[in-house]
Amino acid sequence: MIEIQNLKKSFGELEVLKDINMSVDAQEVVCVIGPSGSGKSTLLRCMNRLEEPTAGDIFIEGDNLTSSKTNINELRQRMGMVFQQFNLFPHMTVMENITLGPKRLKGKSPAEAKDLGIKLLTKVGLVDKAETYPDNLSGGQKQRIAMARALAMEPHIMLFDEPTSALDPEMVGEVLQVMKDLAEEGMTMIIVTHEMGFAKEVADRVIFMDEGFIVEQGTPDELFNHPQNARTQAFLSKVL
Ligand code: ADP
Ligand code: MG
Repeated sequence: MIEIQNLKKSFGELEVLKDINMSVDAQEVVCVIGPSGSGKSTLLRCMNRLEEPTAGDIFIEGDNLTSSKTNINELRQRMGMVFQQFNLFPHMTVMENITLGPKRLKGKSPAEAKDLGIKLLTKVGLVDKAETYPDNLSGGQKQRIAMARALAMEPHIMLFDEPTSALDPEMVGEVLQVMKDLAEEGMTMIIVTHEMGFAKEVADRVIFMDEGFIVEQGTPDELFNHPQNARTQAFLSKVL
């Protein structure tokens, strides 16, 4: 589904990603962990070209993201992204937030978009909030709506950048549950997270990043219980 070769990204003099190589299979759930500033968000943002890679290639379902021949808007529609900050449109109801993309970008009729909206709101457990405005929702509810909005574009891949980091602790579980359900349905997902328990339980593979490199990767058991690299060991000793 995703193949990244020799990816580098610099901001001016600052080299943030230094030769990243990774691939993600269909239906795989990959969790990315690592210290703040290690380049996790930049890596995700390069995957849908919110950031322009400095060097290297990224293939999404075989299509080269960085090629000038690629239709980047079409390609972005295959990838849903959920951020730490929910980025909902405050002047639109929940239903309007969810149906905007399908109507504008996927040519769905209002009725089709609404049916899809109801289906997705049911999935995230918030069908009763369809006519509510984002300001009247809790953080956990906002994040579940943000997920429904991303899913409304019927993406093939979901990218999550610390989706629970801005939430009060009591709301973390409801958001993780939606991600667990998606994983069980076979969604291909890349999840940057500090929720080590979640990564252990749900990830097929865990990637540890530090200073712009993938330092180590493996199954949750390999990475959490038998880390090989000293930097992985030091990081885990602080967070576990
Ligand atoms: P992480 O998500 O692992 O915390 P980031 O990818 O957000 O790390 O950031 C990695 C480094 O890149 C940090 O030093 C950060 O300050 C820098 N950085 C990120 N985005 C930009 C940007 N747009 N311009 C300049 N520096 C940036
Ligand atoms: Mg980040």
